[in-house]
Amino acid sequence: MDYYELLGVAKTASADEIKSAYRKLALKYHPDRNKEAGAAEKFTQINEAYSVLSDAEKRAHYDRFGSAPGAGMPGGDPFGGMGGAGFDPMDIFEQLFGGAMGGMGGRGRRGPARGDDIETEARVTLEQARAGEEVDVPVDRLTTCEHCHGDKTEPGGKPPVTCTTCGGAGAVRAQARTIFGVVETQQVCSTCKGEGKLIVDPCTVCKGRGRTLKGETVKVKLPKGIDEGYRIRVAGKGNEGPGGNGDLYVHIEMEPHGELRREAEHLIFPARIGFATAALGGQVTVPTLDGPQVVEVKPGTQHGELHRLRGQGMPRLQASGTGDLIVAYDVVVPRTLNDEARAALRAYAAAVGDEVPAEKHEGFFDKVGKIFRGD
Ligand SMILES: [Zn+2]
Ligand SMILES: [Zn+2]
Repeated sequence: MDYYELLGVAKTASADEIKSAYRKLALKYHPDRNKEAGAAEKFTQINEAYSVLSDAEKRAHYDRFGSAPGAGMPGGDPFGGMGGAGFDPMDIFEQLFGGAMGGMGGRGRRGPARGDDIETEARVTLEQARAGEEVDVPVDRLTTCEHCHGDKTEPGGKPPVTCTTCGGAGAVRAQARTIFGVVETQQVCSTCKGEGKLIVDPCTVCKGRGRTLKGETVKVKLPKGIDEGYRIRVAGKGNEGPGGNGDLYVHIEMEPHGELRREAEHLIFPARIGFATAALGGQVTVPTLDGPQVVEVKPGTQHGELHRLRGQGMPRLQASGTGDLIVAYDVVVPRTLNDEARAALRAYAAAVGDEVPAEKHEGFFDKVGKIFRGD
């Protein structure tokens, strides 16, 4: 395991470069953020690398011998020289990032836990996504109990008593075998769940939990051009916790439009026209997002021909410009004819011999393909 390779830095990297590379990786692989298999192990490894390379003396030793000082000594704690308290990747992490990250995902060893994140969905119309509107999203959040103000004890009731298991510390010492050897760790006291005290008279409203589920409406500003499958984070709108609020994640679902189909930034309108209109020319009404718009049909319009209304599609997400609204002509041949129509068509056929022009026109799908390839 090459520590420099792990952090993705050169052997000549400065202390700042090492710190910066470590920060990026630690954020990426932090076990509270990254639930992928192997992420926790990777997190431990990069912390190990950083603990050595961030210390000039250890780094020099590592450069010379290819191992951390003390590593490989039989029975020794490889990080015994680091202060004797055992090695916990979270220590380095918290030194670097402070308390803000420490409580992430409810890890409350260094203080009160942050509330959990909440996930929900929002259905969004094309019009809302185009304008980048603010939408109301209903959310059930755990918020501080209004009856006991989070005290968990019924107002006027008997106060909590100190937990006898942990003596009020909220944690108990335990020994754990890790890849670094046996280390002393602190575990959350199971009797009081880390609170250090036990509730005697639980609040009647929240049942001693300190928080209640409350329905709220959260205003969420949509980025212009948002599409199905994207997720918007609203900081602080997750569950409330003693160490701060979690975040709200809103998954976007697009409300299907009755007449327009969306393809990324483009909108497609299949315009059904009769074959007489296709031959003679005429008009169709296109349901644009700004309302109905009359579009001229050129005489001689072919089935599958496309007509582009530039800039009438959707804004490009996180980019500049707007897509097009593409009118795709669908020329419909009547299945039945009345006597008058049949007679007229016979006359037409007699006039032109009903010949099919030799010129082949491009297929509908070829043309749609061209649009998405941008030619
Ligand atoms: Zn309460
Ligand atoms: Zn306890």
